[in-house]
Amino acid sequence: MATRSKGMCRFCGKEYTASGMMKHISSCKHRNNWLEQESSKKQAGYFTIAVKGTYLKDYWLLLEVREDATLSDVDTFLREIWLECCGHLSTFLIDGVHYDVEPMESWGRLRKAMNYKVNSVLDVGKRFAHEYDFGSTTELTLTVLGHRIGGRRKDKIMILARNNPIRMLCDEYGEELPVDSPNSPRSGVCGYEGSEKYPDVLERMTEHK
Ligand SMILES: [Zn+2]
Ligand SMILES: [Zn+2]
Repeated sequence: MATRSKGMCRFCGKEYTASGMMKHISSCKHRNNWLEQESSKKQAGYFTIAVKGTYLKDYWLLLEVREDATLSDVDTFLREIWLECCGHLSTFLIDGVHYDVEPMESWGRLRKAMNYKVNSVLDVGKRFAHEYDFGSTTELTLTVLGHRIGGRRKDKIMILARNNPIRMLCDEYGEELPVDSPNSPRSGVCGYEGSEKYPDVLERMTEHK
């Protein structure tokens, strides 16, 4: 069993566990300075959302999602950073309703599509699920931690923090050797080979351009 994995705050560079990071991020001075520089722009609302592997809790992300992003935008992001191997189906489960990448009929009940804006289905405090691949499923648990209004960014989703790469030990001839594996809860499942878009270690934010 791995210990609770730490990750780096993208703004100040300090390391915390997932729960420590959730507390830290709203009081991080470096981040608050950064947000102040943004505040003169046109305004937008953002949700702070924590994402964890439902069973592999050492994999976690802390995100800021613009409230006019759609569930489809969030699904695409999760695929790009953690999940995509061979184009499997995926779904969100929010308040007992499925939002599918390709909606299908289930027990006579139509499931919904992912074209809903997050502010129409999420509130602060809500916990919901995401599943990728209905065969060898990777299950994620997402929690909406907060909401704020601030300067509008071009990107709908920003990563605030993520866990550091987890060193897997592989038993070879009775000796435990570290092996490289993708920083993802889908590591080792199906044909998953890691993200093509996001590095396994988060880059620290520099000054605003
Ligand atoms: Zn910080
Ligand atoms: Zn696959």
